[in-house]
Amino acid sequence: MTAHLDRHTPSHASARPPLMAETAPACEGAPDPEIWFPERGSDVAIEQEAHAKAACFRCDYRSPCLEFALATDQRYGIWGGTNHNQRVRILTRRRYDEAANAGSPR
Ligand code: SF4
Repeated sequence: MTAHLDRHTPSHASARPPLMAETAPACEGAPDPEIWFPERGSDVAIEQEAHAKAACFRCDYRSPCLEFALATDQRYGIWGGTNHNQRVRILTRRRYDEAANAGSPR
């Protein structure tokens, strides 16, 4: 088994949670790693994000990758198939559900 760390950039390599698996994350060693960090407002950003998300949806690490990004408030890039706005919505929904469950009768 090999511990896989982040794949995108050196600055993100230290942020990637150590994950153990037989297979590498889909983004590790990708020929175009910049697609996981599309430059906002650029002409190709939407296309890059779509390609990154498609790769994430095929990745065995999707769930732990997303949970790591949520737990560490990753504000940039595609993590676990989501962009930052989507992660904010997930966290908001979880907080809403927790509050609703806390207030529901048992
Ligand atoms: S889910 Fe996406 S960003 Fe996360 S390790 Fe897999 S390919 Fe990389």
